[in-house]
Amino acid sequence: MSDVATRLLETQGAVARSARDVGREPSSVTLVAVSKTMPEAVILPALDAGQRVFGENYVQEAKAKWPALRERFPDVELHMIGPLQSNKAREAVELFDVIQSLDRESLAKELAREIARCGRAPRLFVQVNTGDEPQKGGVSPSKIDAFLDTCRVHHGLEIEGLMCIPPAQDQPSPHFGLLAKIAARHGLSGLSMGMSADYEAAIQLGATHVRVGSAIFGARSTPSPLAGEGGA
Ligand SMILES: *Cc1c(COP(=O)(O)O)cnc(C)c1O
Repeated sequence: MSDVATRLLETQGAVARSARDVGREPSSVTLVAVSKTMPEAVILPALDAGQRVFGENYVQEAKAKWPALRERFPDVELHMIGPLQSNKAREAVELFDVIQSLDRESLAKELAREIARCGRAPRLFVQVNTGDEPQKGGVSPSKIDAFLDTCRVHHGLEIEGLMCIPPAQDQPSPHFGLLAKIAARHGLSGLSMGMSADYEAAIQLGATHVRVGSAIFGARSTPSPLAGEGGA
């Protein structure tokens, strides 16, 4: 078995164990395999092993890789988890099944327009900047209530859940707890939190989606050739 397939199975097992540890059904947690910067040859073993949910950070990179893979694996579910420029909203709506990085009104407006235009509605998560880091995308916790109202009332967008990326230097759990609290207050069922280093803690705190890259595909040695597009 390939290294990728082995690590994928280990991660799937750890996700299921973490869920059971806190009395949750393993099926209540979706493993999003983050394949940014990874070429098709590295992604294929994961597809062959049955993985179907993938995350990408860059529209152009995803557009270059996934249409061909999808012809062979039509049931793939693709998540956009990186910063999204408003002028890429059209391509993102056409390509992704879930957009997790909705974080400002200009983008909400563009997504609403493109959803109406192309009759395809990706599921939406709002990214919350739980650490209020200036360099990071996401809505401040102090503005999230108003932002969710704006999305729903002014742009007619249905929001499924929230996503966060805790500050690298912090313990992640307080950030996961805060995200869960905001989601509960708004009756949102989706919680995308937890990456390779901390997905088990995130599952304990209610994550419905964990975004795991390096633990499955190995270290990302080179940045994406398209990183200039803007990304985490
Ligand atoms: C790259 C990335 C991940 C995956 O990170 P790993 O530490 O490799 O698991 C998860 N979420 C986002 C938003 C990312 O940009």
